[in-house]
Amino acid sequence: APIIRLQGVEKWYGNFQVLTDINLDVRAGERIVICGPSGSGKSTMIRCINRLEAIQKGQITVDGTDLTGDSKAIDTIRKEVGMVFQQFNLFPHLTIVENCMLAPMRSRGLSKAEAQERAMHYLTRVRIPDQAHKYPSQLSGGQQQRVAIARALCMAPKIMLFDEPTSALDPEMVKEVLDTMIGLAEDGMTMLCVTHEMGFARSVADRVIFMADGKIIEQGPPAAFFDNP
Ligand code: ADP
Ligand code: ADP
Repeated sequence: APIIRLQGVEKWYGNFQVLTDINLDVRAGERIVICGPSGSGKSTMIRCINRLEAIQKGQITVDGTDLTGDSKAIDTIRKEVGMVFQQFNLFPHLTIVENCMLAPMRSRGLSKAEAQERAMHYLTRVRIPDQAHKYPSQLSGGQQQRVAIARALCMAPKIMLFDEPTSALDPEMVKEVLDTMIGLAEDGMTMLCVTHEMGFARSVADRVIFMADGKIIEQGPPAAFFDNP
């Protein structure tokens, strides 16, 4: 069974239809890049997958949980689906390691020591363990985004959603964040990434999805789009 399934998904903001008849199956371990013009509904679609947004019609199932269900379904999904945004959304008054410890302590019931050990594990994995006791404002944008990735990983998610994670970064910092994402892909993480980084799409994606006007208009392996004359 697919780990994510969207069936006949429709979403409106008032009278404006932002998603139209979205059907999508994602296999466990699949890496998907979502492209398309600004305003085509990419961000809205992935925000629906962790229930940051509700849909009006259709069905979304994540790892067997129907997201159209009650608030218990939402809690389940928030623990299984990690998300990284364009803005890093770190708490400025907490250190890097504290930012990573918060959610596992509150919603996974980890002790402080357990949460700290886990946080350091993932900060090491994104290669910034030495920054753990600094505050977000003391880090570069690229480092802050890697902290945001580590923080999401601390919840031990099965799926990672990325919404233009490099769009707010200075060009010289884009590579360090993409390298972190490539590492996750190599580890077999199921990933859906909204990004304009076509080099990343070509080398990492199993499937590229093109959206326009709230619809999936084309999809296929990157070679079908990038390598043909
Ligand atoms: P993309 O990620 O492809 O740029 P979005 O999913 O962010 O597109 O937005 C799709 C459309 O929905 C845009 O026209 C946007 O203006 C509109 N939209 C997004 N969020 C809201 C909102 N909260 N209320 C009303 N319209 C919204
Ligand atoms: P809490 O009560 O622990 O703060 P909520 O589930 O109410 O958590 O979420 C608060 C906000 O945190 C949400 O509106 C959303 O912006 C963000 N959030 C929650 N879960 C996730 C997640 N899995 N991925 C990304 N952002 C999330």
